[in-house]
Amino acid sequence: MTDFDLTEMLQELGLKAINNGTSTGKNSFASNETIESYSPVDGLLIGKVSITTKEGYEKVMMTASEAFAFWRNKPAPFRGEIVRQFGQKLRVKKEALGKLVSYEMGKSYQEGLGEVQEMIDICDFAVGLSRQLHGLTMHSERPGHRMYEQYHPLGVVGIISAFNFPVAVWAWNTALAWICGDVCVWKPSEKTPLCGIACQQIIAEVLAENNLPEGISCLINGDYKVGEFLTKDARIPLISATGSTRMGKIVAKEVAGRLGKSLLELGGNNAIIVTPDADIKMTVIGAVFGAVGTAGQRCTSTRRLIIHESIFDKVTEALTKAYQQLRIGNPLDEKNHVGPLIDIHAVKMYENALQKVVEEGGKLVVEGGVLSGNGYKSGCYVKPAIAIANNSFAIVQHETFAPILYLIKYSGDVMNAIHIQNGVAQGLSSAIMTNNLREAEAFLSVNGSDCGIANVNIGTSGAEIGGAFGGEKETGGGRESGSDAWKVYMRRQTNTINYTTELPLAQGIKFDL
Ligand code: NAD
Repeated sequence: MTDFDLTEMLQELGLKAINNGTSTGKNSFASNETIESYSPVDGLLIGKVSITTKEGYEKVMMTASEAFAFWRNKPAPFRGEIVRQFGQKLRVKKEALGKLVSYEMGKSYQEGLGEVQEMIDICDFAVGLSRQLHGLTMHSERPGHRMYEQYHPLGVVGIISAFNFPVAVWAWNTALAWICGDVCVWKPSEKTPLCGIACQQIIAEVLAENNLPEGISCLINGDYKVGEFLTKDARIPLISATGSTRMGKIVAKEVAGRLGKSLLELGGNNAIIVTPDADIKMTVIGAVFGAVGTAGQRCTSTRRLIIHESIFDKVTEALTKAYQQLRIGNPLDEKNHVGPLIDIHAVKMYENALQKVVEEGGKLVVEGGVLSGNGYKSGCYVKPAIAIANNSFAIVQHETFAPILYLIKYSGDVMNAIHIQNGVAQGLSSAIMTNNLREAEAFLSVNGSDCGIANVNIGTSGAEIGGAFGGEKETGGGRESGSDAWKVYMRRQTNTINYTTELPLAQGIKFDL
């Protein structure tokens, strides 16, 4: 699939115009200033989106606060039913939204569809969860007393998201926040604003069909300055922010300064350990997909391969061969494996990293380079590269959001490899390729990987929604999506009820009047 009807796709998603300005969502209060969205696929202007003003933001917050007063009183299973309908609508719009994700962000059409599928999956998960927002009951130490805990909605949740998962990250947050009884205000990445508007239109339809307040889902647009409206706003008890570690450090400080909660999903520097007992064929597939999928622009992209010295040359050779098969080009053409980077700035970062690794003493075994000419007019297409490097290089310690894979040699036993794997500031995703049970268990043990995600015999990228997603250290410590991640969207209350005519005090304290 190469050609597609852009007008038809945008219309299906409720976006009005192409190349001369795109409508804003209902809850977005426009200014004269706009963000222009250019596709990294062909460099063309797709649409313009108005930037939210401070005044507009205040109106959004009023709409959201009113909606919260209503929404929190709806039973959780009812809220689940609305999320179920949202999931159904996403199924209908899956192809159109998947194409928009691919065209505006640059990931392959299959990955665009996969992202919408993740939205559908989290809706299904949230529907079930809407009947399972359980608290515990405890035995009171006092006679005739009952003690239990319950979870109440938090309020208005602020969501700040990154460009590389322009729709799924919002859904991971909103689907759970909504069933928990919260309402959401979303600021998508300024690099993918049309994806934000498309999502807002879809949920707006569901809310209108059910006569529900539109403020349950709100959208604001702009760069970090608009993001700051949220982080500085004491009316917002929780900020969920996905993006770079640089951004997370600023947001964390701002939100902590007003004693708000933040859920941070930040950068990764993910590694696969390849031991002498690894299945090399599986390793190559996992490593190549992990390193070049989404052109290396996943937070879980594989950045480092830590390979035992006894198989280092063999793995390097197999990877080099595999890289020669890669087809780079229009991500909407399903024959291509690698699409463009998001913009020219990202291309500069990629070139800078390749230069740095060589300066620090690394050796390129698969050369990179920026592609030009027919099919590459946007200037955002680059060749995936592989370099032999040391873990201590400054550039290896840094997350470069591009398809560059560093090969690092280890000797001795698996604990040496784990030491290298943990020897970075980030702690998102990690993997080991081995058929040796002892190595696998050591990797998963208390002395093993220090990451939020640790996989055996699969790569670092491509998480399922059923597990809690997130990472440690400079990745920010937040958890989203599955397991009990919902708890962060609610406030826990401990309740003790006395059904006697006495008033015994805890810890047996006597207080006679
Ligand atoms: P970015 O940090 O440049 O921007 C992310 C979002 O934060 C944008 O919406 C931006 O406008 C906003 N923002 C930036 N500074 C802000 C501030 N001071 N106050 C409020 N908002 C602010 O990141 P990006 O380039 O869009 O995305 C790439 C990064 O995101 C990578 O580091 C990647 O690893 C990370 N990421 C992490 C996860 C995860 O789950 N851990 C998922 C996706 C992306």
